[in-house]
Amino acid sequence: MQRYRVEPGTEVDLAQIDPADHTAFEGGKKEGRHETRRLNTRLEDLQELLYAEGAHRLLVVLQAIDTGGKDGTIRHVFDGTNPQGVKVASFKQPTREELAHDFLWRVHPHTPGNGEITIFNRSHYEDVLVVRVHGLVPESVWSRRYDQINEFEHMLANEGTTIRKFFLHISKEEQKERLQARLDDPTKHWKFARSDLAERELWDSYQRAYEAVLSKTSTPWAPWYVVPADHKWYRNLVISSVLVDTLEKLHMRYPDPEDNLEEVEIT
Ligand code: AMP
Ligand code: MG
Repeated sequence: MQRYRVEPGTEVDLAQIDPADHTAFEGGKKEGRHETRRLNTRLEDLQELLYAEGAHRLLVVLQAIDTGGKDGTIRHVFDGTNPQGVKVASFKQPTREELAHDFLWRVHPHTPGNGEITIFNRSHYEDVLVVRVHGLVPESVWSRRYDQINEFEHMLANEGTTIRKFFLHISKEEQKERLQARLDDPTKHWKFARSDLAERELWDSYQRAYEAVLSKTSTPWAPWYVVPADHKWYRNLVISSVLVDTLEKLHMRYPDPEDNLEEVEIT
């Protein structure tokens, strides 16, 4: 799955990456789902260990175009993990108070503490995505933010936070189908916003803005992964696999027990 990692310093051209790719896994959808379930059980164990050891912090950043699958990823990949140690922070349009501060002000308090996993559903990257595409601040302001983000993440990493960032890459055709599905199913109407259609009109500008993010902010301490996400089963498999691999490499262990526990007798 490391093939989806963006090597620091490479220029990403999204048109060259197939959103429907599923070639890093030998089997098809059925086997893929089975493999994801196996990884999910492993992730549950690793999360418990992370929590018990209380020495590491994991930050997972999810970014995507509308309907890209951020919500589904959270539901499936983290299914069965313990809510006590796993948090989700969703970043919406900034409030007046948030806008009165620097763009990282609202983000920092949500970063994970010892033993915690935090998932960012959207993130500080919106400040170089929607903000750039809509010109919400001048270019002289947003263009500085890539370096500011890299420095912020570097600080978090130096302080003990492991960071993994995932861009869910879907095709424009797939987005059309997913938007249509939301229109066709009354139980999904709540997810449909007419404004999503206006954003869809800006598809190419968003692709360019994402390419800039992926090219400028994939670092050794906070790498990006471009996840082919037209196939939901494959998207879940890739992300689960990267996270399991990441947590395994932390070589965590349960804290030492109190001395002489074998002598304890419970009456
Ligand atoms: P959703 O994730 O569908 O609930 O939508 C949240 C909306 O908030 C999206 O349209 C984002 O683009 C928008 N949003 C998130 N962060 C920012 C930001 N920093 N500035 C402007 N809009 C934002
Ligand atoms: Mg939305």
